[in-house]
Amino acid sequence: MDNKADVIVIGAGPAGYVAALRCAQLGLDTVCVDDWIGADGQPAPGGTCLNAGCIPSKALLESSEHYAHALHGLREHGVDAAGVTLDLDRMQARKRRVVAELTQGISQLLQANRVRWLSGRAQLLPDKRVRLTGHDGAERELQADAIILAPGSTPAQIDSVTQDNERVVDSSGALEFTEVPRRLGIIGAGVIGLELGSVWKRLGAEQVTLLEAQAEFLPMADRQVAREAKHSLERQGLDIRLDCRVLSSDCGTDPLVIRYQDGDTEQSVEFDKLIVAVGRRPNTQGLAADETRLLLDEWGLIHADAHCRTNLPGVYAIGDAVRGPMLAHKGAEEGVMVAELIAGRVAAALDYDTVPSVIYTLPEIAWVGQTEQGLQAAGVDYRSGVFPFAASGRARAMGACEGFVKLLADSTSDRILGAHMVGAQCSELIAQAVLAMRLGGSSEDIALTIFAHPSLSESVHEAALAVDGRALHSLRKAGSDGSKL
Ligand code: NAD
Repeated sequence: MDNKADVIVIGAGPAGYVAALRCAQLGLDTVCVDDWIGADGQPAPGGTCLNAGCIPSKALLESSEHYAHALHGLREHGVDAAGVTLDLDRMQARKRRVVAELTQGISQLLQANRVRWLSGRAQLLPDKRVRLTGHDGAERELQADAIILAPGSTPAQIDSVTQDNERVVDSSGALEFTEVPRRLGIIGAGVIGLELGSVWKRLGAEQVTLLEAQAEFLPMADRQVAREAKHSLERQGLDIRLDCRVLSSDCGTDPLVIRYQDGDTEQSVEFDKLIVAVGRRPNTQGLAADETRLLLDEWGLIHADAHCRTNLPGVYAIGDAVRGPMLAHKGAEEGVMVAELIAGRVAAALDYDTVPSVIYTLPEIAWVGQTEQGLQAAGVDYRSGVFPFAASGRARAMGACEGFVKLLADSTSDRILGAHMVGAQCSELIAQAVLAMRLGGSSEDIALTIFAHPSLSESVHEAALAVDGRALHSLRKAGSDGSKL
């Protein structure tokens, strides 16, 4: 095989494989290198997202929701389902099938677009050269006119807890349990902690305890949304303990013992399994040979400008390994932008203000743009419109009355500055606000739009009407901080 290419992409996660596809679409001879080995022992593109993150977790969230609904949710609908049982092996097999189908799909896409996909570990060398070490240890050198670094990230660990990948696991291990843990501990009540805690609670864990270091629940979310979500998750049985610092652990004992600082007092709690979900770190150690002088920051993130250019000419970096949220869709869009630049096209820098965030709990939590507390801190004059799902006909028919939609608009221009939602299918509803914001839309634009009835989307419409104090199907008027809701 030719060792020269127009572009070499290191990493085939959502950022890297999308960048490679777009480069190939634009006529560039593209090599994509990745070292992931799938459950079947074969190279698998897709990175963490497909193999051990977004997709398998969503498969288990979906399956566990069906199980919990069959156990607890059907009676209300007049459906008596006796003898509902859990077949975890079958559930896990379905998850593996979903992952395998999607990774095979990406392999086919790479092949169809004539991307040369190589399995092995890549290291950036000076002068846009790359050393590729195969799984058998064989080395070869490649060279390209442009290099895209998309190495992704791995779960962070903490010193006070020793991971054995059996009883103390990271997010990947927590997707592979072969039986439902009776007492499950989770360190970190962030996105992963809440999603995986929900899975195992729904599947029958008696105790799911989340130990969170920060005093505030989901500090990046709108306060009103975080409050509502916390109440709802606690009602489902998640024991969320804030302001708790893990001090030490006995991970060799059965049960495991975790000691933590709760305010002024020292506490301890016993678990059968423990998930460490305290964030992720970029995979940049050893990514570039020292003599390249690739610039990293103190967190190991690759220095990148607004167009994802690193300090090395012709070398770009995208995805979890550069600043910004560690989200697949953000990395993928950076991949497209960089491919366009390499192909000599003009590409606008990404608008990070319109990157949506979603937590796939039940209710789902989703947001885009500025939070109310952020606007207040910045002294921005804004108006807020809130509409509760309890007032939506479709939500009532579904039995999904929890939560609300909140829109924030600039008081003067009426431009939408943020949208915050908690409730059923908010992962889908948030796209409406993202689109409106991308198009520079106002709350009036949404208010003047006709939405199908009955649909959950009408709640976005009503929230837009509420910005102007004229929601039609709600008597409630939320204060600017939503305190009356
Ligand atoms: P996170 O940053 O969302 O949450 C980690 C939490 O752990 C934080 O709240 C933090 O305060 C807490 N923490 C850190 N150290 C601690 C300690 N010593 N003791 C107790 N708590 C501690 O990170 P995550 O949940 O691990 O997720 C990692 C990344 O993956 C995130 O960037 C997330 O956006 C991404 N992700 C996204 C999705 C999604 O989009 N639905 C799903 C999963 C993961």
